[in-house]
Amino acid sequence: MVKEHLEAAWLLRDEVAAADRVVRVVEKVAGAAVAQDVGREAVVNETSCRAGSVALLTASVSAHRAERRCPTSAAYPAPVLPVHNAESQWPESNHLTPPQLIISVASGKGGTGKTTIATNMAAALAGSGMNVMYVDCDVEEPDGHVFLKPDIEKQDKSTVLIPRVNPDRCSYCGECSRICQFNAIAVLHKQVLVFPELCHSCGGCALVCPEDAIEEVQREIGTINSGTGYGIGFAEGRLTIGEAMASPLIKAVKNSANSTEIIIVDAPPGTSCPVIEAVAGSDFVILVTEPTPFGLHDLKLAVGMLREMKLSFGVVVNRAGTGTNEVYEFCSAENIEILLNIPFDRKIAEAYSHGRLVTEYIPGLGQDLHELYDKIAARVTA
Ligand code: SF4
Ligand code: SF4
Repeated sequence: MVKEHLEAAWLLRDEVAAADRVVRVVEKVAGAAVAQDVGREAVVNETSCRAGSVALLTASVSAHRAERRCPTSAAYPAPVLPVHNAESQWPESNHLTPPQLIISVASGKGGTGKTTIATNMAAALAGSGMNVMYVDCDVEEPDGHVFLKPDIEKQDKSTVLIPRVNPDRCSYCGECSRICQFNAIAVLHKQVLVFPELCHSCGGCALVCPEDAIEEVQREIGTINSGTGYGIGFAEGRLTIGEAMASPLIKAVKNSANSTEIIIVDAPPGTSCPVIEAVAGSDFVILVTEPTPFGLHDLKLAVGMLREMKLSFGVVVNRAGTGTNEVYEFCSAENIEILLNIPFDRKIAEAYSHGRLVTEYIPGLGQDLHELYDKIAARVTA
C-alpha cells in the first residue's frame, strides 16, 4: 500500500517530496504493518497531500504512538509520559463508564453565570449525598475555587513535549521545518530555531529528521490543583501567565478527574479550541446565556459548535426577565430546549461578590439546579 501511495503521489508530481517523507516517517515509527494503514489513509486523503500537507499523516502516526498500538523502533522509543502530561490519553468520547455522567457548563459569551451554575449545581448535588467532582477548565482565569473554597491536597505540573535539536547530529536539511504546520521550527543556514510557544507537540519534526537529531523534551505550561471543598471533588488547571496553549492543560485537567458519580466541567467562554477541548467527551452540555443581543449572538455560535460536535445540549437563561425575547424566539425556532430560567436577583450578585455559593442565599436555587440535573440525567440515560 505504501508503494501504491508512492505511485499515486508520483502521479501528482508535486507531492513526491511529501510522499517520500510520509513513507520514511511510517517506516521509522511503525514498521510495515502500521505503514500499510497509514499509507492507505494517505491515499484516501489524497486532497490533503495535494495541498502539500502532511499534518494528517503526522497526526496518524502520533495517534499510533499515543495509543501504543505500534511497535516503536529502538531508535525512536515512545516517550515515557507523566500522569498529567498533555500527551496522555483522553479518548474522543466519554472516557468514564456508566453510571458516571459528565456535564459541561459552557457559554458563547463570558460573564453569563457559567461558573455560578456549575459550582452551585455541584453543591446542590453533593448536598443530597451524591458523589460529585467539579473540574475547572477555564484555565486562563479559573475562579471556581473562590466559591467552593477547596483544600488543595495535590499540585502537579502539566507539561507538553517540544523538540530539542542536537547540533552535533543536525545536517540542516530543513525537513523538520518543512513538516511543521505551525512554523514552530525554522532552519537557518547553520542554526535551527525552535519557538516553543508555537509548538503543538505533534512530534512530526522528530519523526522526519533523517539524522535523529531531535529529541522531545518536557516544557511546563501550567499546574493542576486537586482537592475537596464542600464535600465536592475539585480540580482546576492554571495556565502559566503568558502561555498561549490552553488546550493541552485542559486535556490534562480532564484526565485528572478521578472516578466519581458525576463530573461537572466548567468550560472557558467562547467557541475556540479551549472550549472544544473542554466539552469534548461530555454526555451533555448546559449552554448558559442571557436574554440580550450579545447573549443571543454568542449563543448562536455556541449552538453551531455543539451541533458540529454532535453533543447533546440545552439552554439555561440567566438573568431572565431582563433584556429581550430574542433568545427564546431563537431557541423555539431551532427546537432547543430551555432547561431553566434563573430570574435576575440582586442576592445572586451579592453572593457572587462575597465569593459565596448562591444556594446559601437562595436555597430554592439549589432545588432548581437539582431538578435541572435530574432532567439532564433522564435525558442522557433515556
Ligand atoms: S530535520 Fe533534523 S537534520 Fe534536518 S534540519 Fe531538522 S534537526 Fe537538522
Ligand atoms: S515544532 Fe512542534 S508543532 Fe512543529 S513539527 Fe515539531 S513538534 Fe510538531
